[in-house]
Amino acid sequence: MIFNLEMYFYANFNITTMIQIAKYLLLVIIISFSNFLPAQEEYKTVNINKAIYNGGLIEHEVKYVEEPSSSTRPRNVIFLIGDGMGVSHAFAGLVANHGELYLKNFKNIGFITTHSHDNFVTDSGAGGTALACGEKTYNHAIGVNKDTVSVENIREKAEKKGMATGVVSSSAITHATPASFVAHQPDRGFYEAIASDFLKTGIDVLIGGGLEHFTKRKDSTDLTITLKEKGYKVLTNIDDIAKVKKGKLAGFTAPMHNPSILEGRGNMLQVATKTAIHILDNDKDGFFLMVEGSEIDWGGHQNFTAYIATEVLDLDQTIGIALEFAAKNKETLVVVTADHETGGFAIEGGDYQTGTVNGDFTSTNHTGVMVPVYAFGPGSEKFRGFHDNTDIPKIIGELIGVEF
Ligand code: MG
Ligand code: ZN
Repeated sequence: MIFNLEMYFYANFNITTMIQIAKYLLLVIIISFSNFLPAQEEYKTVNINKAIYNGGLIEHEVKYVEEPSSSTRPRNVIFLIGDGMGVSHAFAGLVANHGELYLKNFKNIGFITTHSHDNFVTDSGAGGTALACGEKTYNHAIGVNKDTVSVENIREKAEKKGMATGVVSSSAITHATPASFVAHQPDRGFYEAIASDFLKTGIDVLIGGGLEHFTKRKDSTDLTITLKEKGYKVLTNIDDIAKVKKGKLAGFTAPMHNPSILEGRGNMLQVATKTAIHILDNDKDGFFLMVEGSEIDWGGHQNFTAYIATEVLDLDQTIGIALEFAAKNKETLVVVTADHETGGFAIEGGDYQTGTVNGDFTSTNHTGVMVPVYAFGPGSEKFRGFHDNTDIPKIIGELIGVEF
């Protein structure tokens, strides 16, 4: 029986897989007692449907982008983070898009280890903090070290240096990854405190979901009023956001998280990124922009290959916007990485012609495996080889002349 074979297979692995077996058994017991179809069949059917992406829907145009000769230092940095985007996730996007990705433009590629201070497997709080602040911390921390003391992040350092700065995300802007570049809180769940932290910074552009963390708060304050007093245009519609060419912008594209691509998010992340670049590029001192493709991770947690592939391709199109700007501008460093891998995602089969991706998963959580880092533009060769996640902001910092 397949079930017993899997049991035998899993028995050679660790606690996490033991927990999975326990969940598996529980599911089998529950379904058997409910007089449904044979338990394994039911479980298998659901799993297989979500694991295989049948392709055909996706065709994203990808261009070759000429990399400028990288002798000078970057003036601008665009740092893109695919939450949970391991090698297999990028590969799922590649196969689904019939072998084409903007990621193929990157020649300087390395790997980063992602463990946190207290766990072999990081969460997005500690992972984001490592990528923003260059420091290992405990899971769930946002911009604080293992002793809950605030640590300055790369965006703050760039801001102090006079650069324009921004964050863009396809989740709530208060979610762990973007929050790590702005806030300092002992727990990622303190969303309202994280929203308040945005007001303590000189950040020029923020675009993402999470409006309700600013407006529907336990303290009954409306932070959008304070944002307006501080000179921000506060907008809640992506078409209005796209029209902004200068000044400070707080763009809220959803009350909480934005919908997924499968649910019809559309090109929000590309429009937001393009708008942010246009606004920030007005600063003569250069800019630092962080862009997050948040929901690749959520597809991983759900062991849902189509969710992963569509979110990877959405981020890849956004990477294309960054690369096309960088190729023209010639003084912009583009760095792409992930905070961790999600799902223990493997690809066991597929078809480039039809865009079919036959995925499988070993976890519904993050895993400890290293993830790639891709760099393009001035200084990109510094990202080659093996690094730790905490090295990434330090390398960027060295290139733009800020100290850690
Ligand atoms: Mg995230
Ligand atoms: Zn996650």
